[in-house]
Amino acid sequence: MSARVIVLGAGIMGLATAYDLAKRGARVLVVDRSYLCGGASGRNGGGVRAQFSSETNIRLMRESIAICRDFATTMGINVWFRQGGYLFLTRSAAKARALEENVAMQNRCGLPTRMVAPSELRAIVPDLSPEGVVAASFNGGDGVVFPWPFLWGYAKAAAALGAELRTFTEVVGFERSGGRITGVRLRPTRPSPLDGGDTVLAAGDAYVEPCDEVVLCTGAWSPKVAAMAGIALPNHPHRHEICATEPLKPFLGPLVADLTDGLYFSQSMRGEIVGGVGVDPVPEGINQQSSRAFLAKYARSLTRAVPRLERVRVLRQWAGCYDLTPDGSPIVGRVPDPSNLTLACGFMGHGFMMAPVMGKLLGEHVHTGVTSELFAQWSLDRFARGALLRETMIIG
Ligand SMILES: Cc1cc2nc3c(=O)[nH]c(=O)nc-3n(C[C@H](O)[C@H](O)[C@H](O)COP(=O)(O)OP(=O)(O)OC[C@H]3O[C@@H](n4cnc5c(N)ncnc54)[C@H](O)[C@@H]3O)c2cc1C
Repeated sequence: MSARVIVLGAGIMGLATAYDLAKRGARVLVVDRSYLCGGASGRNGGGVRAQFSSETNIRLMRESIAICRDFATTMGINVWFRQGGYLFLTRSAAKARALEENVAMQNRCGLPTRMVAPSELRAIVPDLSPEGVVAASFNGGDGVVFPWPFLWGYAKAAAALGAELRTFTEVVGFERSGGRITGVRLRPTRPSPLDGGDTVLAAGDAYVEPCDEVVLCTGAWSPKVAAMAGIALPNHPHRHEICATEPLKPFLGPLVADLTDGLYFSQSMRGEIVGGVGVDPVPEGINQQSSRAFLAKYARSLTRAVPRLERVRVLRQWAGCYDLTPDGSPIVGRVPDPSNLTLACGFMGHGFMMAPVMGKLLGEHVHTGVTSELFAQWSLDRFARGALLRETMIIG
């Protein structure tokens, strides 16, 4: 009989993994304490890019972008994928040097990224102010998607292959025997729709679902869930805010990201300007509330970049949590104890774009039990060994 795998978390990471495992013939159950798109996967900016500072991320993202490009055809759902490029700006000489090094690395990996002088910026975005910009880089193959249909697409395709998706079902513990998880303790739950699910309105009786393998894809909640299995994770949630304006006539090709203050914005296929900016300090722990301080800072940064947007109206503001690790790289792969638990968390502010390729790699890892070089590099024990990695192209 095929293995019974329980995937914890029905964000993009959990669903992409469930889909791959179901394709490989596993009996899959995906559980989520909230509704589909309730976590970061339903709250993000939809940016998809291969401009990174590490060869690993560049190569993975080239593959992920190819999957995004084919997603509508493969899954039969429109994901509004638009390859308008990513334009990274910097206002500091030190960051400009780092950007140049990154571009050289990206070129070595076969990506046609190029440096853009401030005087050339308006050829790419006619309304962009070059004032204060020291350097920029541009890759036309990067783009944006509408995140929600990715989750719907993966969920539907996994279900068609026999996977079961149980939303409003929270993990509350694990049954263990002989260094393995033998069952996941679950509880029906009803999180409040008004505060992004921070408050649980009602909960039913707990029960145990038996399993052969467990994959932990609970994003910013991962430290809390892993602790139930006796595992201490070094990642932590960090609130990120975002907003969308009224629709405007299309005028913005790429997603523009300013590495100096963490501003980023793109134009959706509906015409809205969708973007955010880093705000400090943020409340401790999981917090998906919006703030006025964010809007004020975003308005200042956005109108400095595109003065013509001074009068645009913000229609919607929301927030979600990044899942931050100490070295900017994720925590992925089996742990030694319990030996049938695979971690897939710590994807910072770029886990959505990584999920299409990660789902395939995680499916293979769980199915075969083989640890690739990539997963060895991203393993939890790197923190104890002091083998930290370094990814610097992080937005926000
Ligand atoms: C404002 C913002 C903008 C972003 N922009 C981008 C971007 O442009 N591009 C990009 O690639 N990434 C972006 N990200 C990051 C990206 O959204 C995440 O990296 C990605 O969605 C993580 O997916 P996930 O499936 O790991 O986590 P999530 O989508 O958070 O899913 C985790 C799930 O676990 C569930 N869960 C938690 N606890 C339990 C429990 N006890 N039992 C059962 N279920 C549980 C949650 O309800 C949740 O649905 C952004 C994030 C934010 C917040």
